[in-house]
Amino acid sequence: MSALAGRHALVTGANRGIGLAIVRALSEQGAKVSLLVRDGARAAGAARSLSGTHAIVVADVTDRAASQAACAAAAAQLGPVDILVNNAGSAESAPFLKSGPELFERMLAVHLLAAVHTTQAVLPGMLERGRGQVINIASVAGLEGAAYVSAYVAAKHALVGLTRALALEVAAKGIGVNAICPGYTDTDLVQRSVAKIVAKTGRDAGDVLHSILAEAGQVRIVTPDEVARAVIALCTAPPGSATGQAIRLDGREDA
Ligand code: NDP
Repeated sequence: MSALAGRHALVTGANRGIGLAIVRALSEQGAKVSLLVRDGARAAGAARSLSGTHAIVVADVTDRAASQAACAAAAAQLGPVDILVNNAGSAESAPFLKSGPELFERMLAVHLLAAVHTTQAVLPGMLERGRGQVINIASVAGLEGAAYVSAYVAAKHALVGLTRALALEVAAKGIGVNAICPGYTDTDLVQRSVAKIVAKTGRDAGDVLHSILAEAGQVRIVTPDEVARAVIALCTAPPGSATGQAIRLDGREDA
């Protein structure tokens, strides 16, 4: 398949989980893919299964200079970035009264400001060429509240807000800006949250997962491949057909 042949896609947090699934899907569609990661060795292992053209660039996405230098290095290797997927992220939980400003700053740095840094690095080129896609991996937590994750929820709402605002600013210039908002998805991030609850309560891991899904109204866990398919759908849609959207993918469709 080559729907995205010749296009350069850059994915942050690309060495596992949702990011790696997106990388694989973009590569299968013929895109040249840059994996922006903070662990180059792990990414090299993950990239071994890719048959298409790819590059690995290393940065902590919360470091503006390093992240923008990594975007420039990716463009130097594979050409201007046509598709940017802001995926890197982490989720820290705590009751609100135990969520100090440092926790809010960490969540805003990795979810909101990281997307600002990379987008400001690649958007000028997209504007020059009059085409491009920016896709932010937000969360259902960017659309509604959840208890004990106020910093994460606030940061994901901020990312959805950025998506909607920037979409309006560049819609007439050929650039799409959208967010994908998954519910609980089967990755290390969820496994870590389950393990934390198991360590605290001694409950069975399967029961814990079942109850957090039920509490969120999900009938099943989302798969990373489903999120990747949503990315491909946005990238292959006719130009101008979707922008400023926050697409909910929450495992409720077969309820
Ligand atoms: P994982 O923990 O499996 O992967 C997260 C990725 O982000 C890793 O590659 C990690 O790198 C990278 N990363 C984290 N912080 C940084 C940083 N400062 N600089 C560079 N890379 C960083 O999580 P998921 O795949 O589940 O999450 C991907 C995105 O999807 C996140 O934004 C998350 O909030 C969002 N999401 C996830 C959901 C879920 O239930 N799993 C639901 C909704 C949204 P490293 O390997 O070095 O740690």
